[in-house]
Amino acid sequence: MNFELNEELSMLQQTAREFAAGELKAKAREMDKAEQFDRSVFKAMADLGLTALTIPEAYGGAGFYENKLGNQAASITLEEINRWCASTGVTLSVHMSLFSSLLTKWGNDEQKARVLPKMASGEWLGAYCLSEAGAGTDAGSLVCEAVKDGNEYVLNGSKLWITSAPYADVFIVMARTSKEHKTRGISAFIVEADRKGVVIGKKEKKMGIRGSATSEVLFEDCRIPASSLIGEEGKGFTIALDTLDGGRIGIASQAVGIGRASLEDATEYAKKREQFGQAIANFQGVQWMLADMAMKLDAARLLILRAAWLRDNARPCAREAAMAKLFASETANKCAKDAVQIFGGNGYSKEYDVERYFRDAKITEIYEGTSQVQRIVIARSLLGD
Ligand SMILES: Cc1cc2nc3c(=O)[nH]c(=O)nc-3n(C[C@H](O)[C@H](O)[C@H](O)COP(=O)(O)OP(=O)(O)OC[C@H]3O[C@@H](n4cnc5c(N)ncnc54)[C@H](O)[C@@H]3O)c2cc1C
Repeated sequence: MNFELNEELSMLQQTAREFAAGELKAKAREMDKAEQFDRSVFKAMADLGLTALTIPEAYGGAGFYENKLGNQAASITLEEINRWCASTGVTLSVHMSLFSSLLTKWGNDEQKARVLPKMASGEWLGAYCLSEAGAGTDAGSLVCEAVKDGNEYVLNGSKLWITSAPYADVFIVMARTSKEHKTRGISAFIVEADRKGVVIGKKEKKMGIRGSATSEVLFEDCRIPASSLIGEEGKGFTIALDTLDGGRIGIASQAVGIGRASLEDATEYAKKREQFGQAIANFQGVQWMLADMAMKLDAARLLILRAAWLRDNARPCAREAAMAKLFASETANKCAKDAVQIFGGNGYSKEYDVERYFRDAKITEIYEGTSQVQRIVIARSLLGD
């Protein structure tokens, strides 16, 4: 067993770290305040190859996929990006883990040749449409429908909470192709954002990750070619759940990034802030908070790398991905909460970043399966269905 990153992964980590500590550090607070995503940030990540990590080289990928390192590369990168900006982090995670990975695994040659090079180069930004107003945790009850009409499907319905929707160039959409079967009646489609009948609805006003837009997406008699179907009809729910295993590794990495930001800022602050004539870092009550943060973040990182390694090696990883996401997201929330505590009154002020980490951390316990869902997945793997 080897706990060291190989040379390629080390170089990638360094590249992502330098980019995040430069460009993202400078822009994150403003993106949060303005509630605006900055597309130039996405372009800059693409120029560094960070949008190509999970894509095969034949379609413009960075070479990690072939070496069974795609998910590990994505995890390492996402921790670095989220260390400085969780809004950028979720954008990249959805683009890579939910869109590109899905198409790489389940798309046909024509679909991959048409779409993946644009995802790798960052010309296109991807989004993933599963959730609906009545179908969140119970995603299998979705009602957005795709009706076959000759060589086309006609989409009608609406999707809720879609990350990146207002500026995405392409969506993967889960829609119902049969009302007779619940989960086996769902199919997956590629839908370009500029198709007639794709309407972007209201943008949510959010607590955190405010630099990432989250919106409703409506399909109004939206006609797409039958060749947009990914895999077979009725396979969409299987594809969605399988993809979420990878997505959860991405969100777990996001959580570790936010938790690390909390630890680093709190450590720095504790060494400088003085009370009772000395740095508050001298007080055991503060030291124990820092120690627990460091320990839990390391444990989360190890859970993530195990899940990513399993997925890279095409082994089942639903339980391990759920464990990683559950532990990492609860750790991020504890770290952010304790960082605010260590900052005292300043932690409650927008002058310091820890209040943003506190707001950003919460979503990691909700999207791509709530903490309750992760516990269900883990318990089922222990007890059987
Ligand atoms: C900022 C943001 C971005 C998002 N991005 C996307 C995206 O890009 N694409 C997309 O498709 N979706 C996205 N989502 C949707 C997200 O995945 C859902 O919000 C999430 O799955 C929970 O669904 P819900 O909000 O309907 O909550 P509900 O399903 O209504 O759950 C409410 C509560 O009930 C609990 N609960 C539900 N069922 C059970 C059960 N069986 N046992 C125990 N507890 C249960 C839940 O854990 C939760 O605590 C996003 C959401 C947010 C907030």
